[in-house]
Amino acid sequence: MVETAGLYQRYDNNSDYVLKNINLTINRGEFVFIVGASGAGKSTLLKLMIREIAPTSGTIKVFGQDLKRIPARRIPYLRRNIGIVFQDFRLLEERTAYDNIAFALRVTGTPWWEIRRRVPRVLEMVGLKDKERCRVCDLSGGEQQRVGIARAIVNRPAMIIADEPTGNLDPDTSLEVMNILRDINIQGTTIVVATHDQEIVDRFQKRVIYLEKGRLVSDEKKGAYIRAL
Ligand code: ADP
Repeated sequence: MVETAGLYQRYDNNSDYVLKNINLTINRGEFVFIVGASGAGKSTLLKLMIREIAPTSGTIKVFGQDLKRIPARRIPYLRRNIGIVFQDFRLLEERTAYDNIAFALRVTGTPWWEIRRRVPRVLEMVGLKDKERCRVCDLSGGEQQRVGIARAIVNRPAMIIADEPTGNLDPDTSLEVMNILRDINIQGTTIVVATHDQEIVDRFQKRVIYLEKGRLVSDEKKGAYIRAL
C-alpha cells in the first residue's frame, strides 16, 4: 500500500529536513500507528502519502504508484482511494450528517439512487443511523468524528489516513472512535493513524512506527507507546 525508500523531506531549500531517511512498508490490511512528539514529522509523512506535498528526495510509492512521478491528472484518482479523517473533523457544520456524506459521493460522480442507498448504510456502520437528519453542529464531538469516519469510508477507499483523530475527544469517546476504525480495519481496509494518544496506542496493540525529530527510530509489530520510547 505504502512503500518509502530513503525518503527525505524539507519544506524549503534553506531549512532542515523534517523527515530523514524514512524506509517503511505498509501492507494491505495493516493497522499502523505513527507516533512521536509534536513536530516529529507525523503530519508531513501523511501529507506525502496523499501527495499533498511532493517528496524532496528518495521515493514514496502508494498503491504501487511513484508519487514523485505521478502526473497531476492522476492525483485525484489516488486520493479517491484514500479516506481522510481529520482532528478537527472538517465537516459542513450547518448541514446534516446525511448531506455531509452525500456530498463526498456527489463529488465522485455517484448517481443519486446509489447515494440514497449508501449513506444510511455507512451511518449505520458508525452507529449514527438515528442522527441522519441532524445538523452536524447539533452533534457531540464524538458523533461529529463518526460522521467524519463515515464520510471517509463511503467511497470504499483501500486505505484510511487519520491525523490525530481523537485529538479533540475525551478518553471514552476516543475509544469509541478508535473501535470503529478497528472494525473497518477488520473488514479489510488499511488504516494509518498519527496520534499522541498513548492510552489508545497501548490498548490496541497494533504496529507502532515511532518518529523522533524526523527519523524513524522504532517500528514494532505489536507495540506500545512506552516501549517505542
Ligand atoms: P507532527 O505532525 O509530528 O507534529 P509535522 O509534520 O507537522 O509534525 O511537522 C514537522 C516539522 O515540519 C516541524 O518542525 C514543523 O514546524 C515543520 N513544518 C510542518 N509544516 C510546515 C510547512 N508547511 N512549512 C514549513 N515547515 C513546516
